[in-house]
Amino acid sequence: MNLNSPLFDKIRSKPAAEEVRPDQEPRCQHAGCTRKGEFRAPKGRDHEGQFFRFCLEHVKQYNQTYNYFAGMTDSAVQDYHKDSLTGHRPTWTVGVNGTVAPDSKIDAASLLRAKLDRLRRAREAAGQRKSVGKAALKALESLGLDESADKVTIRRRFKELAKRLHPDLNEGDRSREDKLRAIIDAYNYLKSVGLA
Ligand SMILES: [Zn+2]
Repeated sequence: MNLNSPLFDKIRSKPAAEEVRPDQEPRCQHAGCTRKGEFRAPKGRDHEGQFFRFCLEHVKQYNQTYNYFAGMTDSAVQDYHKDSLTGHRPTWTVGVNGTVAPDSKIDAASLLRAKLDRLRRAREAAGQRKSVGKAALKALESLGLDESADKVTIRRRFKELAKRLHPDLNEGDRSREDKLRAIIDAYNYLKSVGLA
């Protein structure tokens, strides 16, 4: 076949379907809005990589609603979505024509519930930190250290004390054996919580 033939030119040209026609530009998916969908908005956790298309006004509106997840931990958001399968509804739903409408079922109660969940989790996390902190402080004290001690200091102190209290050097001294045991426990605890 002659490469300069008109037939080859035809084959080489793009198929019509791939051409971007102006009427295929995405439109804002907010119900009733006819503006260009210039902005992408994530559909959410269960639809990663999927986006709604909105105009500026509606992407702002969407983000305002979407952002109330921002303060939650990942697991809280997951729980929220788990809840949404049985209890409260997703924030937005896709309507019959692929348009997006604010979901009237996302009511004050759902928002309040999410907020309470968030508060409870924050309180639990704070409580956990506090009790870990208390036990860690006690462990540090038995090594003769305080909360300012870093890993290097803790390890160095542990080795030093373990050497000094080693049974080979303290034959028959029960009190030193007990002390060594306490120091090993303290050090192991600090390691278990990532402090040593
Ligand atoms: Zn719009």
